[in-house]
Amino acid sequence: MTTPLYQTYARYDIAFERGEGAYLFDTDGRQYLDFATGIAVNALGHAHPKMVEALKRQAERLWHVSNLYHIPEQERVAAKLTANSFADAVFFCNSGAEAVETGLKTVRRFHHEAGSPQRWRIVTVEGAFHGRTLAELAAGRQEKHMAGFGPIVDGFDQVPYGDLEAMKKAVTDETAAILVEPVQGEGGVHPMPPGYLKALRGIADAEGILLFYDEVQTGMGRTGKLFAHEWDDVPPDVMAVAKALAGGFPVGACLASAKVAGAMSAGSHGSTFGGNPLAMAVAESVLDTMLEEGFLDNVQRIAGLMNQRLGAIADAHPGVIEEVRGLGLLIGLKCVVPAGDVIDALREDGLLTVGAAENVVRFLPPIIIDESQVDSAVQILDGVCGRLGGSSA
Ligand SMILES: *Cc1c(COP(=O)(O)O)cnc(C)c1O
Repeated sequence: MTTPLYQTYARYDIAFERGEGAYLFDTDGRQYLDFATGIAVNALGHAHPKMVEALKRQAERLWHVSNLYHIPEQERVAAKLTANSFADAVFFCNSGAEAVETGLKTVRRFHHEAGSPQRWRIVTVEGAFHGRTLAELAAGRQEKHMAGFGPIVDGFDQVPYGDLEAMKKAVTDETAAILVEPVQGEGGVHPMPPGYLKALRGIADAEGILLFYDEVQTGMGRTGKLFAHEWDDVPPDVMAVAKALAGGFPVGACLASAKVAGAMSAGSHGSTFGGNPLAMAVAESVLDTMLEEGFLDNVQRIAGLMNQRLGAIADAHPGVIEEVRGLGLLIGLKCVVPAGDVIDALREDGLLTVGAAENVVRFLPPIIIDESQVDSAVQILDGVCGRLGGSSA
């Protein structure tokens, strides 16, 4: 197909015209169970009534004014984020990339203001994905993302996954922060090993450097807690969130403790669109929904069920699925057969999923799914596994 678009995406030959809850409908009217959720974005599913109502109401009042003025909607969302996290202050932007970039600038600026401007380097973990800005390519260090975009931005060091000795060695008197995803998403759905975040916190405190979490994918209920690091009970100093923050309306946020955020004084950073009233209205409706009594308990319950059922499918089809891993509803199926074949077959049978590195199929269902939708997905997967080489469960 010739198109006036950049050819940066290898798109599936499919287009959607409507979504409702966990379902998407394509231009031929075919229904799909959406366990891709726009890559962990539509956490509350499609056309959630509260989000639609919030968007409509705000659309008729005010869309955009810029950050030249106070934005009360922004104050409200920030107050809810800080009341429910380690953070004291929030900077709003429009994407995961900008949220991480804000964090990168924040940790450098913190040391600059603290009289240690030589601390500017950031240590990351192999397999990481932190976005597509030039600095984030250097942070993630994936050959396939960096090719042709050199020279690579300086100031990033990387250590093997889970290797605390290597981390200790990589932290020098030039280090500003350690940046890590509590669960690597794009990298193949790798939760950090037990005790790892706690050890990183110890290293950061001992060395006087900052701990920076990229929760762009893991945040906003995906793992059954509002933020994934709550499972370890190890708070960071800085955190980036985005994907599900407004459930499909583009928004990102960088959260920080007071001492760190204080380094970002007037004029040090900015965004024209960041945190505009329209985005904030939707983000507030998402937060309000996720913070309702029992909501996250229910996510944990359905995640437990989903993982149990997927484990049984993997056991029944060892020739197709090697391992089920992840946290909550960020689930990776490490495949024996090519993951792309599994994704294609699932899609043909009406279930949308996403690939990840290391031959992994990601299941990223809306976190509002019910038991019958889990059943449907598992049934489709069982059928696909049967066809692709295993015996039936
Ligand atoms: C998606 C993602 C990003 C980048 O977000 P964009 O909105 O695509 O810029 C950064 N970090 C992680 C962990 C992500 O999953």
